[in-house]
Amino acid sequence: MDRGNQNLNRRQFLKRLGMTTASAAALTSIGPISAFADSLTNKNGNSAPVEGNPEGMTLRVNRHNGEKVSLLGYGMMRLPQKDGKIDQDMVNKEVDYALAHGVNYFDTAPVYHGGQSEIATGIALHRHPRKSYFIATKMSDRGNHTLEAGKKMFHDSLAKLQVDYIDYYLLHSVGGGGLDKLNDRFINNGLLDWLCEQRDKGVIRNLGFSYHGDVRVFDWLLDHNDKYGFTFVQIEMNYIDWRHASLNKGGWKQDADAEYLYAKSEKAGVQNVVMEPLLGGRLAKIPEEYVNRLKAVRPEATPASWAFRWVGSHPNILTTLSGMTTMEVLEENVRTFSPLDPCTTSENELLAKIADDMSGLPVIPCTACRYCMPCPYGVDIPGNFAYYNKAINEGKFPDKKSLDYKVRLTDFVNGYKKTFKESEWASQCMDCEACLPKCPQQIRIPNQMSRIVELVGGAGE
Ligand code: SF4
Ligand code: SF4
Repeated sequence: MDRGNQNLNRRQFLKRLGMTTASAAALTSIGPISAFADSLTNKNGNSAPVEGNPEGMTLRVNRHNGEKVSLLGYGMMRLPQKDGKIDQDMVNKEVDYALAHGVNYFDTAPVYHGGQSEIATGIALHRHPRKSYFIATKMSDRGNHTLEAGKKMFHDSLAKLQVDYIDYYLLHSVGGGGLDKLNDRFINNGLLDWLCEQRDKGVIRNLGFSYHGDVRVFDWLLDHNDKYGFTFVQIEMNYIDWRHASLNKGGWKQDADAEYLYAKSEKAGVQNVVMEPLLGGRLAKIPEEYVNRLKAVRPEATPASWAFRWVGSHPNILTTLSGMTTMEVLEENVRTFSPLDPCTTSENELLAKIADDMSGLPVIPCTACRYCMPCPYGVDIPGNFAYYNKAINEGKFPDKKSLDYKVRLTDFVNGYKKTFKESEWASQCMDCEACLPKCPQQIRIPNQMSRIVELVGGAGE
C-alpha cells in the first residue's frame, strides 16, 4: 500500500475511533435413529446415546453407515511447535496417545498451519492401520474458485494425507459472503456436483460442510439435502453460543444461535460435528465467580470439562473437536470423554444461567485461529483480542462504571505495554481491512482495534 493511502486510512481510522467512543462494545440417506446404540445412564438419571466400553472413550454411531466415531475429535489446527515449525515428534506422540485411548477422528484443512497441518497429520496417521482412524479435511477458500482449482486442492489433500480416500470431507466455512459466495465457490462452477461424484465413487465417504455467518446459506444447503446428501454439518456450539451467539459477535449480526442450527440439523437427519466447544478457549478460563458456582456442584471438575460434557450430552453430536496442543490437555480431555458423564437437568440449568450472566460481558469473539495473520502492519490481532478478553474474564476490565476504574485502567495499560512490542499494538492498525474477509467469526477487526486504542490512550502514536 502506498503511503498516501496509508495516511488516508489512518485518518479514517482516527475518525472511526472518535465515532466509536460512545458505542463501546455491544458487544444420503440417513439410517434410523434406532441405529444408535444403548444409552448409558449417569448417576443422576440422565442419559445420552453412547456406545463402546463403559470405562473407555464414548463413541457415537454415524447413522449413515454405522461406523463408530469417538465423541472427542482431534482438531489439528493448533499443533505443537518447536523452533517456529510443527514439532512432528510431538504430533506423532500425541496422535499415538489419542489412538491408544480411543480417539479416532482427526480434523484438518489445507489452510491450517499454512498448509503444513495436512502433511503433519498424514505423517502421524500413516504409521497406523488406515482403518483405525477417520480423516476429516476440507475444501478451503484460497481465492481461486474454478473447478480445476477445487479438484487440485482435493487431490493435494489426498497426497499430503497419504491416503486414497477421505472419510469426512467438508465445504470449508460456508456462510461468510452469503449465498452469492456459496454460488461462486461451489455451485456455479460445478464443484459441489463434482464432490458428490467423488462421494458416489467412494473417494469421499461422508460429505458435509462447516458453517459460519449467514444462516441463509446453512438453511439453503440443508433445504437442498435431497440433492446433495450431506451426512454431517460442523457448527460452532457451546453453552454460550447456544442462545447468545447472535448477541456476542462484536457488532456483526450472527444470524443464528447454536440452538437453531442444532435443531435444524437434527430435523434434517444430519448429525453435527462441533467446533469451538470452549469458545476459543474462553470457557476453560471463566471468571472466578462462575468457577465457584461450578465447583459447588463438582469440586474436582475443571471449567473445560463442564463445557465438553455439556456439548457431549446432546445426542445429535457425532464428535466434538478440540485443538489439543499439549499432552496435558489431551490427557485431560480423554479423561472427560472416557466415558462421558452427561450433564443432569440441574447442571444444564446452571450452565444456562452462567451463559446468561456471561453474555453481558463485551468480549471479542476471537477463537485465536490466526487466519487473519499476518497483518501487513504488524498488529498482533489475536494477541490483542486475547489480552482484552482476559481482562474481562478475570474481572479486571476498566469499565467506566467500576469504582476503581482508574486503577484498573492503569493496570490494563501497563500490562499491555509489557505484553506487546510497540510494533504489535492495536494503534498500528491502518484500517486496511485486509484481515476482514479472512475472519470466520466475522469480527470487524479494525473497529475492535479502535476499542483497544481507546483504552490504551493512543499509545504508539
Ligand atoms: S485492518 Fe486488519 S490487516 Fe489492516 S492494519 Fe488493521 S489489523 Fe492489520
Ligand atoms: S480475529 Fe478472526 S481470523 Fe483473527 S484469530 Fe481471531 S477469530 Fe481468527
